[in-house]
Formats: sequence, structure tokens, C-alpha cells
Amino acid sequence: MEYISTRGKTCPVTASKAILTGIAPDGGLYTPVEIPFIGKERLASLKELDYAERAAKILSIYLGDYTPDELRRYAQTAYKSFDTPAVAPVVKQNDDTFILELFHGPTYAFKDLALQILPHLLTGAMRKNGEKNKICILVATSGDTGKAALEGFKDVPGTGIVVFYPKDGVSEIQRRQMITQAGNNVGVCAVEGNFDDAQTGVKGIFADKAFAEQLGARGIMLSSANSINWGRLVPQIVYYISAWCELLVSGEIGLEDEINFCVPTGNFGNILAAYFAKRMGLPIGKLICASNANNVLTDFISTGVYDRNRRFYATNSPSMDILVSSNVERLVFELGGRDGERTAEYMRELASKGRYELSDEEAKELSELFASGWCDDSETLAEIRNSYKKYGYLPDTHTAVALKVLADYRARTGDGKKTVVVSTASPFKFGDSVLLALTGKVYQASPRLVFRLSEAAGLPVPPLLADLENIPPRFTGSVPKEDMHKAVERMIDGFKE
Ligand SMILES: *Cc1c(COP(=O)(O)O)cnc(C)c1O
Repeated sequence: MEYISTRGKTCPVTASKAILTGIAPDGGLYTPVEIPFIGKERLASLKELDYAERAAKILSIYLGDYTPDELRRYAQTAYKSFDTPAVAPVVKQNDDTFILELFHGPTYAFKDLALQILPHLLTGAMRKNGEKNKICILVATSGDTGKAALEGFKDVPGTGIVVFYPKDGVSEIQRRQMITQAGNNVGVCAVEGNFDDAQTGVKGIFADKAFAEQLGARGIMLSSANSINWGRLVPQIVYYISAWCELLVSGEIGLEDEINFCVPTGNFGNILAAYFAKRMGLPIGKLICASNANNVLTDFISTGVYDRNRRFYATNSPSMDILVSSNVERLVFELGGRDGERTAEYMRELASKGRYELSDEEAKELSELFASGWCDDSETLAEIRNSYKKYGYLPDTHTAVALKVLADYRARTGDGKKTVVVSTASPFKFGDSVLLALTGKVYQASPRLVFRLSEAAGLPVPPLLADLENIPPRFTGSVPKEDMHKAVERMIDGFKE
């Protein structure tokens, strides 16, 4: 399977080359030359396998220049670090609502599902392409990607990693997790701005040819671990197929049943992976896109107009505080009949006017595939309380947004299909908000809140969050968004061989 750019201006490249470079030279995103249709009968045969084997099989459909053996080895190593053998367990909340728990990796957020395997895919790609330069991974994070990427790449030979996060845009636990990161090839820096500022800054660095040459002279090449990188997206397809297999195994559904997925969405990577699974033949009814007050995607799906010209809100689900969702570009490419010129034009409009409008035909297809909804902070807290009281299930703030949006969707449409809600993080990562929901009291953000939450909810503290306050911070600096180039150089200089 080869990869082309969503902006249509580059020759097809191998999977490993697409993963190695992250973003296409014309500024577009790499996407497979065609989306492989597998069919539900063949997908159902995966139900006999464990998670790592399911992953190896699905990855080998997309990543043709890696051997099945390599992929099996990578998957087995990557998913060994998870705290449950199921890796991505499906928990029943009630008769028609299931929760796909994606927070059992080392950083307790769904980003681990991709970022534990990406370093293997990337170092494999370096070997396959004879890449002699050192790869420096550059990340803009809304909180969880940064930590998951740091854990994935720390001390991986031939690589380094630099992470930018919005100074006041991540939770206290997320910040602590990042600034205490161990490893000789890591750097973390706050940006004085929001996530969109950090992401725009990182995209600017990738597009800066002079800077690339300057780093090249030092034997360093930049690459991306954000979900613009195909290597981030493809491992995410696996858990949608795996969740469906789990429901088949438990007898909750039969081969003829369709299910919905409801996904708390920010950069649109997670839900886009579900769209790919659907195109592969997974029997999905609706893809329900859940947003917080930054509801640009809710409007896009219901009207076909993408308009980022609106107020930005810092919410209690900070990993979804995004107005420019990068991966929408891959969907728009599909909706427009894979016309790179057209996609490039939409993206130019987005960059210059902050807005573009799909054709009627594209908008219609979009609204047939997806449903959308949003809720505000107080509804999010009410949903946490409701889920805990009614079902004894404690969701994090992002998952609660999805649960609320699903409830509204059902009330609005009467759609009774069984639905899997994707749970993207452990409630312990957002302790102040979750405690506020449970107790009605305002807590000052602190790493100690994990113990309070443990008492209040009767759940054990995730082991790697228990000791955060005792680890001395290593990375306490911040920079204005104009100074991100300099910060990259400084952090690279700080790497030890
Ligand atoms: C990253 C993240 C999201 C958003 O996922 P996208 O792939 O960016 O849409 C939602 N919830 C949590 C907890 C996250 O870390």
C-alpha cells in the first residue's frame, strides 16, 4: 500500500517513508492510495486473536513494507506495558451502552495505543530508508499526546523528542507528568498561548526549509508524532475493530448488527480512525462526534461549514480545546472524491479566512456518516455524577462529554443501536474536575488530588500517578509563541548521547 498527499502534489511513497516524514512535502497529510475493503466476515476472524495479534494483522494491511513478523514483534512489545491483558477492554455500562477503555497504557490516556508502537514503526522506517540522520520528534500537545510521546520515545536510540504544551491549557497532572519526564533525549517547554498557537508554531517549524537545512547540517531531521503522522492514525483503527470483536465474543451483537461509536473529539484523529474502520467494512451505523464548548466540529457536521472564527474556551475537557482539527483534512479529501486540488483550496481558505464551506453533496455525505453534539462544562460535571450514581462508572471529563452527547443524540433521534463510547483518559488525570462533580467542592489543582479522588470514588490510584509530587521537575521554562524555533534548538542542544 502506497501513500499520497491529501493536497495531491506529491508522488506516492511507501508506508515507511510516510511515517518517517510525517507530513507530505506539499503541506498535505499522507493517506493510503485507497482504503482497503476487508468485509465483516474476514474482520470477524480476528475475534479469535489477542489484541497484539489483531493489531499486527490490521497494521500489515496498511504497512506493506514492514514484514508481518516485524509488526507482530512491535505490537507485542508495545502492548506489554498495558495494565490489563485485554489492552483495550470493553465495559458494559447498561444494556445498550458500552465503554471502550483506552486508558490502560503507561500514561493513562488513549494516545498510548498509538505512541507505544510508533517508535518501533519509526525506527523501522529509518532502517528501511537508510536514514542516517538522527530523528527529532516535534510535538504540540493538548496534554496527553506530549506525555505519551515522551514515554514512547525516551532513550530510543537515534531519536530525540521535543514537546510544546499550552502554558495554561493542560491539567495539573498532565503538566506534572511532562515536566518530570525522565530520559536523555527529551525536552519539554510551555508555550504562552493556547493549543492552536502551539500547533500552528510546530507546523511553521516543519514548513521552514532554512531551519530544516540548518538542522540537517547537524545530522538532525524533524518528524512528527502528532496525529498528522499516518503512523499515529493506523494503530487507532485497530481498537475499533477490536471492540466490535469483543462484542461478538460476548454475544452482545451478531454479525448482522450495526453499532455506533461515540468519540470525544479534538484534533479529529480518533474518530477519523473509526471512519477508516467503517470503510474497511466494519458494520458501523453512526459515528457520533462529541465536542465541548469549542464546538466547531458540531457545526461543521451539521452545516458543512468549517468556521474557526469564534471564541476559544478553556474547558474542563482541555484535550478537546481545539478550533483547527488537523485530521479533518483527510476526511475532506475523501468527501471531495479524493481531489487534492480541491482539498488544498479548502485548506488555503481555512488559513487565510479561517473558514471554508463544503459543496452540498459533500455536506450531505458528511451528515449521513456522522452525527454531532456538544455540551458545556456544567453538563460535563452533571454527566460524571450521573454515570457514577446510576451505574457506578466514573468517567473522566472527556468521556463524560461523549456520554452526554450520546444521551442527547438518542433523545433527539430515537436511534436505539448499541453504542460504544470511547473513553480516552483515566478520571485521575482530571482529578479537580472529577472531584468537583462528585462532591460539589472546589479543589485547588494538585498532584495530591489523586488520593482524594481515590477515597471519594473507592478506586485505586493508578500506580504511576501516585508519586508525581515527589519527582523533581526538570522542565520549567516557557516561551512566547514567536520563540519556538529557538526553544527547539536549545532543547536539542540539551540532549545527551
Ligand atoms: C487527545 C484527546 C482527545 C481528542 O482526540 P483527537 O484524536 O485529537 O480527536 C480526547 N480526549 C482525550 C483525553 C485526549 O487526550
